[in-house]
This record gives sequence, C-alpha cells and structure tokens, in this order.
Amino acid sequence: QAKDSGKDCIVFYQPEMSDLATVRLTYESDLRRALRERQLQAYYQPKFDLSQQKIVGFEALARWIHPEKGMISPGVFIPLAEELNMIDQIDAAIMAQAVKDAMSWRQAGYDLVVSVNVSGRELERGDELAQRVEVLLEQYALPPQNLQIEITESVLMELTERVQQALNALRGLGVSVAIDDFGTGYSSLSYLKNLSVDVIKIDQSFVREITRVREDQVIVRAVIAMAESMGLSVLAEGVEAEEQCRFLRKEGCHQIQGYWISRPTPLEETFPLLREYDNLQRLKA
Ligand code: C2E
Ligand code: MG
Ligand code: MG
Ligand code: MG
Repeated sequence: QAKDSGKDCIVFYQPEMSDLATVRLTYESDLRRALRERQLQAYYQPKFDLSQQKIVGFEALARWIHPEKGMISPGVFIPLAEELNMIDQIDAAIMAQAVKDAMSWRQAGYDLVVSVNVSGRELERGDELAQRVEVLLEQYALPPQNLQIEITESVLMELTERVQQALNALRGLGVSVAIDDFGTGYSSLSYLKNLSVDVIKIDQSFVREITRVREDQVIVRAVIAMAESMGLSVLAEGVEAEEQCRFLRKEGCHQIQGYWISRPTPLEETFPLLREYDNLQRLKA
C-alpha cells in the first residue's frame, strides 16, 4: 500500500533501515504478546439471506484490541502479520474462536454458518489446513456444514495444484468455500471452471454506487447470472442502504452483508441482533 501513495511512501520508508527494523521488532513482540494475551478478538458481521429474510450466518473479522493503542484494524495488522510470518497463528486463533462461538449459537438454538478469512499462504501448503480444521471441528463437536472458509480472489489467480488440493480437502470435510472480494483480482474467469467453491462474494466496490452507476449494475448482473448457471451462491458485500438491497434482491442476489444489516460486533451483541431479526420475521409472517 505504501507503494500506491507517494506521501505514505516517504513517511514510511524515510527512516534508516535500522529504525525500520526496530519498528518491526516492536510490532513483532507486540503481536506475539497480543496472541499470548488474547488481545485478538473475532468480531462478527451477519450474512442476511434475501429469500429467507433472516440471518443465516456470521463472518468472523479479526480485531486487535491493543492495550495502549486501542482498536487496530485488520487492514493494518494483517499485512504486517503476513510479512512477519505470523498470519497462520492469527488465522488459527480467530478460527478457534469462531468455531467455539458457532457452538454457542447452536446452543442458543441457531443453526448458522460461521465464515473465517484465511490467508493465501496457508493454502499453498496443501491439505495441512484441512487437517487442522478437522481437529478443531472435532474438538468443539461442530458439524462441518457450519463452517465456511473465505479466500480472496487474488489467491486463486495463481491457482497452483497445492491450493487446489487444499480447497478439495476442505470441501471433502464438508466445509464450504467462498471467494472473497470477487471482481477485484483482474483474473481470467476460466479459473472458476476448475475450482471447487460454493459462494461468490461480490466486492463492495461494485455495490457502493450500484443504484447510480450503470457499469456496476451490468457487472453485478453478469456475476449473478454466471454464478447461477454454475450452481454457486452469490453474496453482495458492503450493502449500506435499502436501495442497494432492493436492487440486489430484484437481480436475484442470494445474500447480503453490510452496515445496513449490522456492523461487525462482539459475540454478545450477536444474540440481541438474532432475536431482533427473528421478531421481524414473525411480524412479517
Ligand atoms: P473482507 O473479508 O472482505 O471483509 C469485509 C470488510 O468490509 C471488513 O473490514 C468489514 O468490516 C467491512 N465492511 C462490512 N460491511 C461494510 C459496509 O457496509 N461498508 C463498508 N464501507 N465496509 C464494510 P475489516 O473488518 O476491516 O477487514 C478487512 C479485511 O481484512 C477483510 O476483508 C479480510 O480480507 C481481512 N481480515 C479480517 N480478519 C481476518 C482474519 O482473521 N484473517 C485474515 N487472513 N484476514 C482477515
Ligand atoms: Mg471476508
Ligand atoms: Mg471482501
Ligand atoms: Mg476485503
């Protein structure tokens, strides 16, 4: 990202290399401490199904609650963690929380799918991830259908045999796979043909101005039609207003996610949210 903007670039790369190394070291020990002291929290954002008119799942999004700096967003610490080779540990910590929390929704009577974001690096090691997932599901006795893995489209662009193997192993367990940020990877669509995935998540950049920009409408319509014909489910990210929801529903989009339904929240706040949407449903029926 520093590369993209001249200003950031100067600020970020100006220090001497030794200073930069120091900054990295601080962050590295901070991040290690964060893992040890459980400063990393999964927040949950609902996925709303447009035909069933209810919340059908939650996406786990990592938050770093730093004791001095406050909440740090994943846009900041995920790239850093990747660089420091700590991303696997972070993903594993969030996934463990998500699987555990999925059980507490089940205990409250909700059958929901929890999805977790997984870095591409992990997939490059073949079926190792699936093995860890299997152990975790057994540990918490969560049925595999209640877990979904999200992978960004950019990972799939360089679709190697190992990534393919990793995805097949996951789906072999009964865990579903979603392509995140779909449409931003500048990739050839042909990769979809050979890939075992279940859900396409349309990137929020196509949704933001969907009620006004014709090109966005054309793209979203095409993605929905393509997904439909391939038997995949489509979710639109970043829905912030009712008009966006109405457009997407009319075009046959299956699910939406975005501030219009809810921002990502801590686990405790998902329960009142679920009850609220339950009540809405009853009012409609
Ligand atoms: P993502 O998986 O595509 O998640 C969607 C992002 O959009 C989230 O940002 C979410 O808070 C935000 N968002 C949701 N609804 C709206 C909306 O209506 N409007 C707007 N403007 N934004 C919305 P967040 O939580 O900052 O996460 C950013 C990215 O960091 C995620 O993108 C994901 O790629 C990555 N990430 C988050 N948690 C993890 C994790 O545990 N592991 C890994 N490897 N990556 C993670
Ligand atoms: Mg995601
Ligand atoms: Mg996304
Ligand atoms: Mg994203």
